[in-house]
Amino acid sequence: MMRLMTNAEISAAFTMIGKILELQNENPFRVRAYERAALTIASLPRELSDIYDEGGMKALRAIGGIGPDLGSKIEEMVKTGELKYLKELRKKIPEGLFAVMQIEGMGPKKTKMVWEKLKVKNVADLEKVAKAGKLAKLPKWGELSEKKVLQGIETRKSMGDRVPLTAALPLAELLVEKLKATKLCGQVAIAGSMRRRAETIGDIDILATSTKPAKVMEAFCALGEVKRVLSKGPTKSSVNLHAGMQADLRVVDENVFGAALHYFTGSKGHNVHLRGMGVKAGITISEYGVYKGTAEKKGKLLASKTEEDVYASLKLPYIAPELREDRGEIDAARAGTLPKLIEERDIKGDLHLHTDFSDGGADAVTMAKAAYAKGLEYIAITDHGSGMGMVRGLKENNLAQYLKMIGKARKAVPSLKILAGVEVDIQPDGSLYLPDKILKELDWVVASVHSQFKQSPEETTARLIRAIENPFVHAIGHPTGRLIGQRVGIEFSVEQVFAAAKKRSVAMEINASPPRLDLRDIHCKRAKEMGVMMTMGSDAHAPEELDMRFGVMQARRGWVEKGDVMNTKSWKDFEKWLRAPSPIGRRLG
Ligand SMILES: [Zn+2]
Ligand SMILES: [Zn+2]
Repeated sequence: MMRLMTNAEISAAFTMIGKILELQNENPFRVRAYERAALTIASLPRELSDIYDEGGMKALRAIGGIGPDLGSKIEEMVKTGELKYLKELRKKIPEGLFAVMQIEGMGPKKTKMVWEKLKVKNVADLEKVAKAGKLAKLPKWGELSEKKVLQGIETRKSMGDRVPLTAALPLAELLVEKLKATKLCGQVAIAGSMRRRAETIGDIDILATSTKPAKVMEAFCALGEVKRVLSKGPTKSSVNLHAGMQADLRVVDENVFGAALHYFTGSKGHNVHLRGMGVKAGITISEYGVYKGTAEKKGKLLASKTEEDVYASLKLPYIAPELREDRGEIDAARAGTLPKLIEERDIKGDLHLHTDFSDGGADAVTMAKAAYAKGLEYIAITDHGSGMGMVRGLKENNLAQYLKMIGKARKAVPSLKILAGVEVDIQPDGSLYLPDKILKELDWVVASVHSQFKQSPEETTARLIRAIENPFVHAIGHPTGRLIGQRVGIEFSVEQVFAAAKKRSVAMEINASPPRLDLRDIHCKRAKEMGVMMTMGSDAHAPEELDMRFGVMQARRGWVEKGDVMNTKSWKDFEKWLRAPSPIGRRLG
């Protein structure tokens, strides 16, 4: 069957439906069902149209989270290339409101209000009414919320046309796979900032080798993901994708693939630094290879086939793409002190996840089964202990019920070690939402900031240090509270907070949830330098979110090694570490 809609497009359609329903104050469970289906579909290894071709509706329904209703919507999309339900929904809402809803401080309810009361239809309208002081006068708003919205608009602008890596990478990988499937290429690789796993990217750069470049260009421009061909040359083409990004493909000769890949991976700073070293050594480095002599008077070809060869020509070991930011990696390579970067398979446990006891979408047994199926040895269930009105979860009076639920999960998945944990709110003064007598009963305590992001840096520093000094806290969750492209997060003295964490053996979390990636790369690097422990958590709210892939990428950009992250330990070692007497004298369970 001709491919009418790709997984990326079907996923985008479901995301859109979720947003519109949210804007219409629909049942949150319905909203969540669409959001989850969108996530699942985006990460499917096979195209839905193929799955449907082979197994029909039954095969679609076998995918987790796809019920009869979503199943028939997918069926309609793969058969007709469109979805009537979404078309109808879209008519009811101005297109620009979706971007408005993404602005920090807005959300569906407030978006609905500014649309109805102030006729705001897009971000430009919103900025206008906010600057005119009209938001502050709306019921329940005030000047502080107005200021927050203006800051949110600035944050959004600062991202420009860049797209989060987490959204772009699966799509780029799909393009690579499809190019490989043409059998026209020798090698196909992602280059550019995406290969360095930068957290946002401008466009998708793909590099391939082929003896039939014209045919590769033909195939690339005809891919189902392509909306418009911007330029098509004999060895380079640029296209706009349906998903709203630009993708460039270059085809080079097999012999110069390494030099080209190195050149087009960047970063600029890294390449300039290397070229400078080359000049001193009397060699020239370019996308065509490493030569003796100058660019004008090229001598013998020294290297071009592999990136390893390129580095070797400068007497350097291979430097991983994630490190190529000119942040000291070249000196480290020279000195033989490059880090041996952490890998996804090093992660043995997940120390941050939620169930439907708080705001998760699945029960503890389902989450535990999914974690075990992913190959994890242990998890900590960390439902919220939060004073925020909307969030259910652990309170002073329901600990027994919570532990009972965890007991049930332990029984259902006996081979998985399950820690009874909590993600407790750090209140504005640094105290925790739950009293010590509750925290003491738990195996694993993550403390996180979920409100009051706008304190002064001094106040925030004191707030975090007070939380770190609580004797029952093991880790600080998503320490900066940022949301990529949406929220800057809290400001504090990284030096002081990390020093306090080190002193108390409290870990800083690398939250692997795609919108967060927090700690960010430079903070990971600083934590490592200061000898602060780190943990990694998926912050999953549904089984398919039990994924730390992007967290590992962020950690690698931060020079993090296996030994820096506590949950790379086997359960045996992790338990030993958790039980060991520590400066704060905590004990497991
Ligand atoms: Zn949280
Ligand atoms: Zn969480």
